[in-house]
Amino acid sequence: MPVYISTRNKDIHVRAHEAVIRGLSQDGGLFVPESIDTVPDPSVLVSDDYRTIAEAVISVFFDDLSRDDIHACVYGAYDAKFDTPEIVPMRRMSDGWLMDLWHGPTSAFKDLALTILPRFMSCAYDLDDCSDTISILTATSGDTGKAALSGFADVPHTAVTVFYPEDGVSEVQKLQMQTAAGNNVCVIAVKGNFDDCQRMVKEAAVSETVRSAAKGVRVSSANSINIGRLVPQIVYYFSSYAKLVRQNAVKAGEPVNFVVPTGNFGDILAGYYARRIGLPVKHLICASNRNNVLSDFLATGTYDIRRPFYTTMSPSMDILVSSNLERLLFEESGHDDALIRDLMRSLSEQGSFTIPENMKNSISSLFKGYWCSEEDCAEEIRSLYEREHLLIDPHTAIALNGMHQHIRSTGDNTPCIVLSTASAFKFPQDVYRCLTGESCSDGFEAMQKLSSLTGEPVPPGLAQLKELPVRFTESISREHGISRIRQRMEEIANG
Ligand SMILES: *Cc1c(COP(=O)(O)O)cnc(C)c1O
Repeated sequence: MPVYISTRNKDIHVRAHEAVIRGLSQDGGLFVPESIDTVPDPSVLVSDDYRTIAEAVISVFFDDLSRDDIHACVYGAYDAKFDTPEIVPMRRMSDGWLMDLWHGPTSAFKDLALTILPRFMSCAYDLDDCSDTISILTATSGDTGKAALSGFADVPHTAVTVFYPEDGVSEVQKLQMQTAAGNNVCVIAVKGNFDDCQRMVKEAAVSETVRSAAKGVRVSSANSINIGRLVPQIVYYFSSYAKLVRQNAVKAGEPVNFVVPTGNFGDILAGYYARRIGLPVKHLICASNRNNVLSDFLATGTYDIRRPFYTTMSPSMDILVSSNLERLLFEESGHDDALIRDLMRSLSEQGSFTIPENMKNSISSLFKGYWCSEEDCAEEIRSLYEREHLLIDPHTAIALNGMHQHIRSTGDNTPCIVLSTASAFKFPQDVYRCLTGESCSDGFEAMQKLSSLTGEPVPPGLAQLKELPVRFTESISREHGISRIRQRMEEIANG
């Protein structure tokens, strides 16, 4: 029976459902399973049904939910909301595969977790005999916001508040959030970057004044600091591997590489846990944009955020403080919570930390880091389309560039699966410019032009944004984050 412990104090023990409801541990640490079982019947992991694999994987981590509850969560989440019954289809490239994670309601991979997290939350709510309203605070670099708003809209006993960097998301991403439906949602722009938004959310989760701001309201998070976000992301590592095995592209048991466009380190960490429960993975390739703090860390063992912050055409990766790295450090240090406390203190006080040499070596034998300029990102989009008529978004292009750098620099011929994390139509102006050299000032016009050029349909959820009224235009300075969160707690308490 997995017990969850905090990365900053392993004496804090909670059950899985409590970890989901709380989001973050009260000491500021992240919840991780104390020990990890393997899947009892590995034969289900090569199933051709995404939901069968999902039930098996989720059961390993959330065994305090009943099998019936997990079944209902899985079948409620992965249904016709996705535009393909495969849920996560793959596309073949000449030198690898694209794992297409953007067929859900908001056209980004965040849907794989945020269609199911509200269902876990409801089960956890019942198990916990909870009667409070759960205030779900969410920082977004662009895609989590809309996926959380869509997943939690009008879910009983919950209220969602999303904070996004005012000038740090694409035009389409911003509109997706500003037009969100639901009586329990609120969207606020912050004059700052993603790191400022995430810091506010983390600070609120541990702040006594926030926690006691309103009776009957408690704080949680829909960010990947919540373990309920990470577990569903483990599933597609298995489902994509199973597809390759069924196509005879790899033999069962033969290792593959996964290439992950990385921001908050959540997606790639799910790959790490997939490997821990038995998936044959050789390397996890961590791809960054110009905000290359992670590729520097993997090369040197020093994590240093004292550097410029760039806004790029892959905004969901414009992050310097990658929260989930803390989970990896905890795992790879053998659950050394004192070390993690020191490293995290050093990060917040000095802006950097350095890990011990042996830890650095074990991490960098599994994880390989690469980063990519804006020009090279544009070139990947253009040349993949020209060579193979495959359309990808800028985040996926960063990953593809990482794959190409990895193959060039190491000669590694392990089959590579690239995680394709968003639809190109979320970034229509940038992608259209990469393909044609022409700029287009209107996002909707760019969607149509991109669709005519490539023959790919515009996802209906994006095309219809044009017709929806803008509901949320509030903007705050980052200094006002905590007081605004307290005020929101009171608003929630007063219904
Ligand atoms: C969130 C996001 C990422 C980064 O994922 P992390 O889990 O934060 O590392 C990459 N690409 C897209 C399109 C995203 O929305």
